[in-house]
Amino acid sequence: MSAKYDVIVIGLGAMGSTAAYQLAKRGQRVLGLEQFGPAHDQGSSHGGSRIIRQSYFEDPAYVPLLLRAYELWDEIERESGEEILTVTGGLMMGPPDSLTVSGSIESSKQWNLAYEVLETDDIRRRFPVFNPSPNSIALYEEKAGFVRPELSVYTHLLHAEKYGAVLRFFESVRSWEAHPSGEGVRVVTNCGTYEAGKIIISAGAWAPQLLKDLGISLQVERHIQMFFEPTGGIEPFRVGKHPIYIWEADDNVQLYGFPSFGIGAEGAKVAFFRKGKQCTPETIDRNVYDHEVGMIREYLAQGLPQLNGRFLQGKTCMYTNTPDEHFVISAHPDYPQVAVAAGFSGHGFKFASVVGEILADLVIDGKTNHPIDLFSPQRFAYK
Ligand SMILES: Cc1cc2nc3c(=O)[nH]c(=O)nc-3n(C[C@H](O)[C@H](O)[C@H](O)COP(=O)(O)OP(=O)(O)OC[C@H]3O[C@@H](n4cnc5c(N)ncnc54)[C@H](O)[C@@H]3O)c2cc1C
Repeated sequence: MSAKYDVIVIGLGAMGSTAAYQLAKRGQRVLGLEQFGPAHDQGSSHGGSRIIRQSYFEDPAYVPLLLRAYELWDEIERESGEEILTVTGGLMMGPPDSLTVSGSIESSKQWNLAYEVLETDDIRRRFPVFNPSPNSIALYEEKAGFVRPELSVYTHLLHAEKYGAVLRFFESVRSWEAHPSGEGVRVVTNCGTYEAGKIIISAGAWAPQLLKDLGISLQVERHIQMFFEPTGGIEPFRVGKHPIYIWEADDNVQLYGFPSFGIGAEGAKVAFFRKGKQCTPETIDRNVYDHEVGMIREYLAQGLPQLNGRFLQGKTCMYTNTPDEHFVISAHPDYPQVAVAAGFSGHGFKFASVVGEILADLVIDGKTNHPIDLFSPQRFAYK
């Protein structure tokens, strides 16, 4: 098959935008296909902010990827002049044996990351808006902060185009086909058919449809990002005074939040980490209900009473969960010319910069030096 493009990227969200950028920068002829507009709010990459941190409680195996992700965030910031990542410091707070605290300490120890352990009174003294339970301590990490998802997607797309990528928006992929010889792909959209050497499938919450043949259970979940107006004024919640935080309450429910930086009127954003309802991109209910606001208020009243003020807005968003909540990033087990990035399980954005690099390695070189064994689709019973 002779083709006009080297690589087609299906889905230009968090991961597709960085992949298109990395590939075009390395001289590949890229076609990017996206069913919505650039940096839209219908998938998983909107709402103004995403936590980034290094002391990774989910598994220490993520840490080397995080260190590279920080370097690449810095690189795109220098190239574009945009501030995509803001360092604020981060509190991982909860009972000492909670996953949030003990897992963060374990990762930091294993990789020699700088951290402090704050006792209950230290937390109150340093960050008076928090009201930790007597049972809570925290790991404080100076390098934690947040990245801006819409700005990241938009900036990577802009710079992919600068390096020659062709990006087509409002064009939806219906099917893809890979030649069994291991070379060549064909992609059918609502507008036409394209041929290329390789494809990257980075379709977020739509991955269950495009990657059915992988046989992995990918569950899409509805989550809500909520913005509240602090009762005592916004000052103590501003960047510079307020860290990002993940707070595991005594009942092991995890919440997380951000300082205010001007998005969502004068409010600060807070959300439950894992308490979503199963949905699909077609069935998700985008309304936010009073009882849902009430549920988060119960936790704010205990742990962050000043944030329990006027509810400003709620924005739904989707997680795409794998059974073990680790990502799927790999060459397709049946087709070496297909790379997949899926199942980011609600914690993928901070890695977007390095995932783009990994995907570019996989399609250009057929391998990557980054440690991605944890993300193999073959860890699940494969067909
Ligand atoms: C509420 C919420 C909070 C989160 N908080 C954090 C956090 O603090 N830190 C963190 O690291 N991560 C966080 N995450 C997770 C992170 O945002 C996601 O892991 C990441 O955005 C997933 O990126 P993606 O590229 O897989 O999906 P997306 O960015 O949604 O991109 C997929 C793209 O593919 C397109 N597409 C799909 N199918 C087709 C098709 N057939 N044809 C054409 N285009 C198609 C979609 O339109 C979409 O643009 C959060 C997620 C949510 C929802």
